[in-house]
Amino acid sequence: MKKFLDLFLRGKIRNSLLAGFIILAFALIIVTSAAGYYLLNKVSADAGSITWIIAVAAILVMIFFLPVVILAARKISYPLEVLAEGADEISRGNYGFTLDLSSNHEINILAQSFNRMSTKLKEQREVLLKQISLLEAQKQEIAAQNEELAEANARLELIAITDQLTGAYNRRYIMREIEQELAISIRHGLPLSITMIDIDHFKEINDTHGHQVGDEVLKEVVQVLSSSMRTSDLLGRYGGEEFIVIAPLTAHHEALVLAERLRETVSKWPFETTYGFLKLTISLGVATYDGKTEAYPSTLLEQLLARADAELYKAKSSGRNCISPVYIEERAAVTS
Ligand code: GH3
Ligand code: MG
Ligand code: MG
Repeated sequence: MKKFLDLFLRGKIRNSLLAGFIILAFALIIVTSAAGYYLLNKVSADAGSITWIIAVAAILVMIFFLPVVILAARKISYPLEVLAEGADEISRGNYGFTLDLSSNHEINILAQSFNRMSTKLKEQREVLLKQISLLEAQKQEIAAQNEELAEANARLELIAITDQLTGAYNRRYIMREIEQELAISIRHGLPLSITMIDIDHFKEINDTHGHQVGDEVLKEVVQVLSSSMRTSDLLGRYGGEEFIVIAPLTAHHEALVLAERLRETVSKWPFETTYGFLKLTISLGVATYDGKTEAYPSTLLEQLLARADAELYKAKSSGRNCISPVYIEERAAVTS
């Protein structure tokens, strides 16, 4: 019965059948009324039997007519329910959901419009999803390009500030750094030391073993020096075989200890070259700003460089492989 009702409501059973039911119901009512009338005339009826006949007729009317009325009402309410369900499905994102309501011509037109709208929504959603995934792919591509660009920029930046042969910072960068560090030292009253380093008799290495071996030694000197310093210290190539170390927050006596460590490490290091192992020494000149004296970064820089250079010269004059004649003794701070 339920299946039949469902088929009927969905329009699988045609409207003509409903009309048939209605005609049948009316026919039954007419027949029942006629039979009642006949019986009333034929039988000498008393009031009780009249009541009975009317009651039977009313029951028959109820039995045949009421279901038809219910069915007709249901036939109107059912498509509305289906439409509401469809709208609910769409609102929950189930695009492409279609309705089957061929029972009623007008409702079916509405259902077909609904179905077209639903299909269109589904198609447009698919188009949008495709565009989103396309945009996502483009976004990833752009992100990868940005990453490459950032890496290339970082490489370029590094190239711009490093010495090509040794990998130490180049002179331009190290000078800029000293000036900036000095400005910080002046502002915050902090000490800063710089150390000039010159390889002893380097020309002899070039002359004896060739420029190639000289280059190899220069590279290895930078590695040895770098590994003997704190990461906060900066090593730059000042000139051919001359280097400079900036040691922020470092007092003169601490800078002398650092210089001695560098000197000792280099003097003991077996430098591996294509010629074979070589030994060499360095001379060092240390200058310190104590952080207490008032000064301007640029003039202080000149003074510090001149002092470090003078100290280096002294070390060279004292026979090389040393820092200064008496490196243990703390020097007076450089002032402006
Ligand atoms: P001193 O002990 O007095 O410092 O003597 P030195 O021989 O080290 O100093 P000098 O100034 O006489 O010679 C420095 C040499 O360094 C000369 C120059 O050819 C060499 N030099 C400078 N730059 C480079 C470089 O990039 N590669 C090589 N192989 N040699 C270099
Ligand atoms: Mg030199
Ligand atoms: Mg030298």
